[in-house]
Amino acid sequence: MRKKIVAGNWKMNILPSKTNELINLLMSANTDKIDVVYCTPFVDLHTAISSTKNTNIKIGAQNAHFEDKGAYTGEISFDMLNDIGVSYCIIGHSERRTYFNDTDECINKKLIKAFDKNITPILCVGENLELRNTGTYKDFIKNQLVSDLKTISKEKIASMVIAYEPIWAIGTGLAATSDQAEEICSFIRSCIKELYDADTAENIRIQYGGSVNGSNAKELFSKPNIDGGLIGGASLKEDFLKIVEAAL
Ligand code: PEP
Repeated sequence: MRKKIVAGNWKMNILPSKTNELINLLMSANTDKIDVVYCTPFVDLHTAISSTKNTNIKIGAQNAHFEDKGAYTGEISFDMLNDIGVSYCIIGHSERRTYFNDTDECINKKLIKAFDKNITPILCVGENLELRNTGTYKDFIKNQLVSDLKTISKEKIASMVIAYEPIWAIGTGLAATSDQAEEICSFIRSCIKELYDADTAENIRIQYGGSVNGSNAKELFSKPNIDGGLIGGASLKEDFLKIVEAAL
């Protein structure tokens, strides 16, 4: 039985001085049976970690550099994240792939480093509208998985999370239907079976992300291969608590 995981991606929202306010609003999230994670901007991490100290809520980052230290102006390492108590890190979000040129090669290096530094990665994969319309989206997603997970052992990937995030559904209000999301989450599981083995595929957690809200979460999370969600816009408001409830 896989434990569901609901993660909020705050993106570049919420000032450090407002972090406590949002954490307090979401503090009552029910973490009895599922994992709940808030992935905040770097500058909010310290506050988020200290205000959730006595809870089961975990804190994640949204990116990190694959080098440990050195002359990389403006970057943050996985070592640094680990040092302050960060548990998760989103890797390969489509906004990073699109706006910051995070290639599959660089995502692979980031994944390797995250495992090395005991940070659980949430790897995002997913197609754009053009690929969806031309019907080539499964090939595209499989290629992303093959490149991103290159040389990573099955022991390591067992603990990671994969988020299926169709780009056309992110921030658009047009969530995938539960059948569309299930089709690809199940396909991702079959790719993991092919790349690793049946046990690894059975145990790995696969989320759906893209315009999830308090009204559509229950149906999405009821599908057999959807183990929770990666939530953008709705993670910044009370609606997030309904999404967590939907995963219980
Ligand atoms: C995201 O950015 O990962 C996301 C799923 O955003 P939204 O929920 O706003 O579509």
